[in-house]
Amino acid sequence: MSMENLGESDTNGGEEDPNGSALLTARHQVEKASQHVDIEPGVVERLKNPTRVVQVTIPLERDDGSIETFTGYRAQHDDVRGPYKGGIRYHPEVSAKESQGLAMWMTWKCAVMDIPFGGAKGGIVVDPSDLSQDERERLTRRFTEELRNVIGPKKDIPAPDMGTDAQTMAWIMDAYSMQQGETIPGVVTGKPPVIGGSKGREEAPGRSVAIITREIVNYLDRELEETTVAVQGYGSVGANAARVLDDWGANIVGVSDVNGTIVDSDGLDTYSVPSYNENPNAVTTYGAPTQLPANEILQLDVDVLIPAAIGGVLTSDNADMVQADIIVEGANGPTTTAADKIFNERNVSVIPDILANAGGVTVSYFEWLQDINRREWSIDRVHEELETHMLSSWEEVNTVYEEKDVTWREAAYVVALDRVGTAKSTRGLWP
Ligand code: GLU
Repeated sequence: MSMENLGESDTNGGEEDPNGSALLTARHQVEKASQHVDIEPGVVERLKNPTRVVQVTIPLERDDGSIETFTGYRAQHDDVRGPYKGGIRYHPEVSAKESQGLAMWMTWKCAVMDIPFGGAKGGIVVDPSDLSQDERERLTRRFTEELRNVIGPKKDIPAPDMGTDAQTMAWIMDAYSMQQGETIPGVVTGKPPVIGGSKGREEAPGRSVAIITREIVNYLDRELEETTVAVQGYGSVGANAARVLDDWGANIVGVSDVNGTIVDSDGLDTYSVPSYNENPNAVTTYGAPTQLPANEILQLDVDVLIPAAIGGVLTSDNADMVQADIIVEGANGPTTTAADKIFNERNVSVIPDILANAGGVTVSYFEWLQDINRREWSIDRVHEELETHMLSSWEEVNTVYEEKDVTWREAAYVVALDRVGTAKSTRGLWP
């Protein structure tokens, strides 16, 4: 099927439209992968669209007593394999289109990990740093109230994403539980452990990025101890990936945040570089021998590049300048379709987000199980089960990669699409 039929304009040949890019990229990816899967074209068409997108208006009383109106979204892409699942983001660029694209990626992420959830994503169009803590709380509680009929522990389970955190989830859980008249921890994941959150959830996306980096390095017959790594973004995903890889012997030579890139060819002390949680946007305060502009992180002469900040950073404009020959996607959608094509031509291995950062939603699943069973897991059990799940999905993707001679991204999509398509044909279309 041609891109014209996708209902979006694609004037750039690589759909690098900043507002619609997540949706366009997600649609393009599923179209491409479907060529390698035995699936009814009508089902593929269905899967390029969400079940529904809910838009809500959220009035907020500011601390000065004035009332400001915000817009929020929840896109629910597909729930054939289980309840909708995915993050809530607070960011000025949140949009209906972006939420749909990100929701679609959640469907594939849960399917590639074989966990029994579908895909959703949502958020509020807001810069959270413009709000006080009290304002964030009021905004979150009112957003929860507006979404009360569409979320729930068996329906749609939000989690943290850009601009939200464990505290945000605690407010959602409280607002939802108060209205329902009972404590319902399973309505969100990524909560603080004291109210039913899982140990290890916060560091899980970064940990899975580290596991997958270790596996691709081994697959290419290299040693982790001899591997140099650059990490874009030092938030929850980037900092945890860097620190776990550092623990395992990799050489983290460069990291960045919005203020700049720091480089030390002898290896950075990843625990001394402040993560976003510890001190926001302060990596350049670390005494590194070399400091460069923020974007230069993408072009460092390293073996592995881990983009772990925002989406759409690797484009046709900079793909040729990337020197790493392994890219492990920590962020959701960091590579545009045009850049993906260039990397493929240049033989760069791009390990996709839906596999690499899937540790987040996988430990979210563990959290949901713990909430339902009212039984807490130890950190050792979380690490062990995460490792098992990641390795099993890695093996499955690996098998398709070798059998079908496709890219790593296509291989992951083939695994995911096959699972979702088979679930759809097994359940059947009704009415
Ligand atoms: N926001 C995370 C992601 O993009 C986690 C979603 C979840 O745990 O539901 O994968």
